[in-house]
Amino acid sequence: MKKYNRALFFFIITFAFFALFNCGPQAKPYDLVITNGFIIDGTGNPWFKGDIAIKDEKIIKIGQIDIKQAKKTIDAQNLTVCPGFIDIHTHCDRGIGKTPTVDNYIYQGVTTVIGGNCGGHPFPLSEHFKKIEENGTSINFACLVGHNTIRREVMGYKMDPPTEEELEKMKSLIEEEMKAGAIGFSTGLSYLPGIYSKKEELVELASAVAPYQGIYATHLRDQAFHITEAIEEAIEIGEKNGIPVQISHIKLAQDAVWNELERITKPVEEARSRGVEVTIDQYPYTATSSGFTSSLPSWAFEGGKEKFLERLKDKDNYEKIKSFIIKRRLTSTRGINKLETIYIARFQKFPEYEGKNLQEILLSQGKKPTIDNAADFIIEIEKNGGASGVFFQMDEKDVEDLMRLPYNMHGSDGGVQVIGRGVPHPRNYGTFPRVIGHYVKEKGVITLEEAVKKMTSLPAQTLRLKRRGLIKEGMYADLTIFDPLTFQDQATFSNPHQYSKGLMYVLVNGELAVEKGKHTGELSGKILYGYGKE
Ligand SMILES: [Zn+2]
Repeated sequence: MKKYNRALFFFIITFAFFALFNCGPQAKPYDLVITNGFIIDGTGNPWFKGDIAIKDEKIIKIGQIDIKQAKKTIDAQNLTVCPGFIDIHTHCDRGIGKTPTVDNYIYQGVTTVIGGNCGGHPFPLSEHFKKIEENGTSINFACLVGHNTIRREVMGYKMDPPTEEELEKMKSLIEEEMKAGAIGFSTGLSYLPGIYSKKEELVELASAVAPYQGIYATHLRDQAFHITEAIEEAIEIGEKNGIPVQISHIKLAQDAVWNELERITKPVEEARSRGVEVTIDQYPYTATSSGFTSSLPSWAFEGGKEKFLERLKDKDNYEKIKSFIIKRRLTSTRGINKLETIYIARFQKFPEYEGKNLQEILLSQGKKPTIDNAADFIIEIEKNGGASGVFFQMDEKDVEDLMRLPYNMHGSDGGVQVIGRGVPHPRNYGTFPRVIGHYVKEKGVITLEEAVKKMTSLPAQTLRLKRRGLIKEGMYADLTIFDPLTFQDQATFSNPHQYSKGLMYVLVNGELAVEKGKHTGELSGKILYGYGKE
C-alpha cells in the first residue's frame, strides 16, 4: 500500500511539473517543423515560401507555423523542400535486404524505390517482404511481379509457347504475388526466358493483375529499329486488359535510329488520345547498362547454361552466335568505333577488366582491337560466368527531347551498390541530382518544378501509390531538402562510387534518414503494398 502511494505521489508531481512549465509531451503538437523553405510541392506549380509541420509520419500543416509548437525544427532558409523522390524503375529488390540503409538511393534524395522491373522479382514476394520488414529499411519499397521469374519457375528455359496448363499455372502465381502486395506485372522481353514469349501469352498473363489495379511495366522487345512495333505490342497488352502501361527506360538505342523520336511519340500519343494510359521513364545518361547475355541470340540459351556451352562447341553455331553479336553490338552506321563504347562494369571472374573498354582489354591481351576479336571476347565473357557492361549507345539530343515529354518521368534503372565494388553505371548514384544539377540548372532542358513533378507526383499517380508524391496535408512526410545552388551528382563513368553534393535532409515517413548531409542510419521505410493486400 505504501509503495502504491509513493508511485501515485510521483505521478502527480511529474504531471504538475509538465503542466506548470508547459514542456510535457502533450504541449508540443508537432514532432518537427521545417521553416522558411522554398516549397516545391510536386504538382508542377511554382515554388512558394512556407513552413511544414509533421506529426508522427504525416504532414499535418503547411503555412506559417509557430516553431514553439515543435519538438524539433529544421531551418530550411535558402533550401528547396520537395516530396521525396520516387524511383519508378530500379533493381533494388535483393539489395535492400543486404544493405538496409540503401545509401546510394537515400543520398540522391530518393525515399521510395520500385523493384521487380524488367521481368525479374524475388519469388515469392510474401517471404521477401517479410524479410525486409524484419531487417528494416531506410527507404520505402514497392514491387512488381516479373514475367521472367514466373516463366522460369513454371517452364524453365523452354522456347515453346506455354501449354494451357502452364499458362494457368503462371497466372495463378502472378495472382498469388498480387495478393502478397505487388503493384503490377513487368516484362523483360530482351532477356531470358521472356524473350521466348509471344504477345498472346503476355495479354493473357497481364489479365491476372487487372482485378488488383496493377499496371503493366515493360522492358520492350526492341529499343531500336523495331521500337514502334514493340511499343504497340506493350500498348495492346495494356489496352486489352484495361490497365496502364509503363514503358521502362525509354531510349533509341542504336545510332541508326537516333533523332527519330516519332518512333516513340507517335504510338504513345495515339494510344493516349484514344484513352489508353501510357507513360514512360528514362535515366539521364547516354549509356545503358546490362549483362552481356542480351548481346547473344536467345536460341543459344534454350534449355539453360549447359546447353549453351554445348552449342558453342559446334563450329556452325559458334559462327552464327558471333555474327549475331557483331550485328547487334559491334556495328555502327555512323562510323563509331564500338569497341571504345563498351565497358566492363562487373566481372566476377576477371575483376581486372572492370572499368576498361573492349579496345583496351584486347590490347592488354596482345590482340588486335578488331570487331572479330571483340565478338570472341564477348563469347568468352559468357563462358566465364557472364559480366555486366556499360554501353554508350544513345544520343544526347534524344535524352533531352525525351526528358521534355509531359508523360515521361525519371527512373535510375539501378540497384543497391556497395562502395568500391565494380565500376557500375553512375546512374546508381547520380540519376536524380543529375537531372536537377545538370539538365535543369546547367542546360535548362526542363524547369525545377517540372523535374520534381516527374520524380514525385507523376510516378506516384502512375503506380497508384497512396498519399505519396506531394507536399500536402495528410500525405506521408517523405521529404527531400537540398541546396538548389549546389545539388549535383558526383558519380562519373570512370569514378562512379560517389554520392551527390548539396543534399541536406531526407525524411522517410516523418523520420530523418539524412540530417545535415549525413545518413542517420534510421530505418523508417515501409513496404508499400498494392491493392491486393490492403
Ligand atoms: Zn530493363
